[in-house]
Amino acid sequence: MTKPPMKRAVWPDSVSRPLVTPLQASVVYTAVDPDALDAQYEGETNGYTYAREGHPNADVLAGLIDGMEGATGGQVVSSGMAAVTVAMLSVLKAGDHAVGADQLYGRSLRLMNEELPRMGIATTLADPTDITAFEAALRPETRMILVETVANPTLRIADLEGIIALGRSRGIPVAVDNTFTTPVLIRPFDLGADILIHSITKMLAGHSDATLGYVVARDAEVNERMITLAATLGVNASPFDCWMAERGLYTFDMRFERASNTAAALAEALARFESVARVLYPGRPDHPDHNRASVLMAKGGGNMVSFELNGGRDAANRFVRALDGVAFAPTLGDVATTVSHAASSSHRALTEDARLALGISQGFFRVSVGCEAPDDLIGAFEAALKP
Ligand SMILES: *Cc1c(COP(=O)(O)O)cnc(C)c1O
Repeated sequence: MTKPPMKRAVWPDSVSRPLVTPLQASVVYTAVDPDALDAQYEGETNGYTYAREGHPNADVLAGLIDGMEGATGGQVVSSGMAAVTVAMLSVLKAGDHAVGADQLYGRSLRLMNEELPRMGIATTLADPTDITAFEAALRPETRMILVETVANPTLRIADLEGIIALGRSRGIPVAVDNTFTTPVLIRPFDLGADILIHSITKMLAGHSDATLGYVVARDAEVNERMITLAATLGVNASPFDCWMAERGLYTFDMRFERASNTAAALAEALARFESVARVLYPGRPDHPDHNRASVLMAKGGGNMVSFELNGGRDAANRFVRALDGVAFAPTLGDVATTVSHAASSSHRALTEDARLALGISQGFFRVSVGCEAPDDLIGAFEAALKP
């Protein structure tokens, strides 16, 4: 017998199966012969070929999120932005027009304002809380609408039902980025949305150690186009990140419930301080969209709280320095609470006037509440705000 040119390890036989999903790092899969490979490509048999085209860890994760959202056939891609990009580019072509909410995630705004127009796709941004303004932004050649459920960092709540009805009546697909609300609070497919997007990086994975996105279309043909486009663009998800995110997902419900309850209590506590000019939390009666929140987000206000300190940038600096044990970091959805300051990070590219028009002053903070013991967390904020 000749010696094999390269001896690879042999996977040990086992009649038992692992309880935990194995981490499958292999980029490529071997087939027994060309007929077997043909059968796979023709869909007569199930099998993976090449990780950019799909791999088990991404499919396992996508299946779990499908279940949470009441969707079928969703895919996991390399980031939330990859999910947004795949959604837009699967539907739109040169000559089309798209309408987006005016307070989208920063990179989504950049896609709308800079990249899509460069490809010959015109875009308009409109206020998603104002259905009349949104309708006025539509053109005969509008082919897609992109909205987020809750705006960052002002936590304004989109008129999802109105916008979805508008899309329906005009035959325009509506894509909803559900990152902030998660399927616990809002399930966009139940409301009739056509495309659904998540940054898994945030609350779903929940530990700031995996960057991933999820995207699914209700229409099977559009969904198939999104899967093909993702493979062509090469925005496949890392198996390790999928494996980490799957692990995170198993505790998502508990984490989100804990964080949301704490967020409601923190909002109450913040509102008691004289140095706090206003608190924005969808569960509070003084939130500008509270009525909409109580219908659309009947299960709760979520884990995000924003507030505005009196005293401008000086007061903001003092507060952050005094806030002990809470990370000042421009992200959200971590297992621990993070505080971010829009004027110096996510919204730094805007002029002061443009920021103020959105209600974002130098004293404006957004808090992504995590899973700490509520009293400890609220105590830390109270200590930092004490006059
Ligand atoms: C973070 C975020 C994204 C982008 O997700 P990444 O995983 O960071 O690429 C998109 N939409 C919203 C609402 C987000 O918060």
